[in-house]
Amino acid sequence: MTMRRSTTIGIVLALTACLSAALRHQTPAVGAQPNTQSSEQDETPIDQKKVIALPAVKAPEGLGQRAMAHVRALCDLGPRYSGTPGWSKQLDYIDGVLQSHGLKVHRDTWTDRKELLTFTNLSVTIPGKVKDRIVIACHHDTKCTSGHADPEHNFHFVGANDGGSGTAMLLELAPVLAATQPHATIELVFFDGEESLDWRWNLAARALFGSKRYVKNHRDALLLGKESRIAAMVLLDMVGRTDLHLQEELYSTPKLRTILWSAAVACGHQASVFRRAEGAHDDHSPFLDVGIPSVDLIDLNGNPHWHTAADTPENMSDKSLQITADLVLTMLPEIERTYVLSKD
Ligand SMILES: [Zn+2]
Repeated sequence: MTMRRSTTIGIVLALTACLSAALRHQTPAVGAQPNTQSSEQDETPIDQKKVIALPAVKAPEGLGQRAMAHVRALCDLGPRYSGTPGWSKQLDYIDGVLQSHGLKVHRDTWTDRKELLTFTNLSVTIPGKVKDRIVIACHHDTKCTSGHADPEHNFHFVGANDGGSGTAMLLELAPVLAATQPHATIELVFFDGEESLDWRWNLAARALFGSKRYVKNHRDALLLGKESRIAAMVLLDMVGRTDLHLQEELYSTPKLRTILWSAAVACGHQASVFRRAEGAHDDHSPFLDVGIPSVDLIDLNGNPHWHTAADTPENMSDKSLQITADLVLTMLPEIERTYVLSKD
């Protein structure tokens, strides 16, 4: 993903080597299309005084530690982008963990004709009382850091937070959600090919392969009456840094940003959320483009480890993963109430 703009004064003063790299990847606003089918679209920060009173849903004790163990195991596989040994081992790892919880994993494997690369999206469905579904997603691929023209872009990269954290979080949320009786169907999706093949973002021309495909397939199936609608989408990307800071991602649907902020207030996690407000292109963008309300829980802007060799488990914390799990579990009933129950 890539950042678009900063509303934080003084960001330039705080530039690290990594952040200056991030700014070089900055893309103009035209990269993400506004959500034209929803009148909700508004790229200004929410009013943090307008909090919805939500009951805090705390994640089971030890969830963060178990997620952290997944992150370490995934990083031990090395780089995990298409064509690497770690990539195929990771698919089996994800599959194995979900199967151990009694969940049936769907694999969607395809070869991109232009890139001649094979990608795989993985997903599991937790049936609800209605077919309308809420998608909770991450990306499992890691940034390719070899073969780039600039030698600075070639280094050993294991993507602990960037790739690993969202994947680990979904693996641990799966049994928790499966044990509940959700009203909406929940689909957990592990996207492949989120990262740009070019070092730069280039308006996602060579990125977001998995989410673009997923949304296109969904739209086709919806038109044919083979699938019911996706009511909302929640994306987790870089959610486990020690000094966790989930920015207010400004392309995300305002109502969902309000729900995220309200969940942070309910759980007492305000310190980890919305100190900055900035847009980021990510796997939620294809969903927003077709009018699906979406929110990105992302720790991009100001993250000194992003796309560097320092994105390792040592710079992550099980407490941060636990916080993220609290937020997701607290948000979900309100997302269901807003986007599913009110539409039944
Ligand atoms: Zn990345």
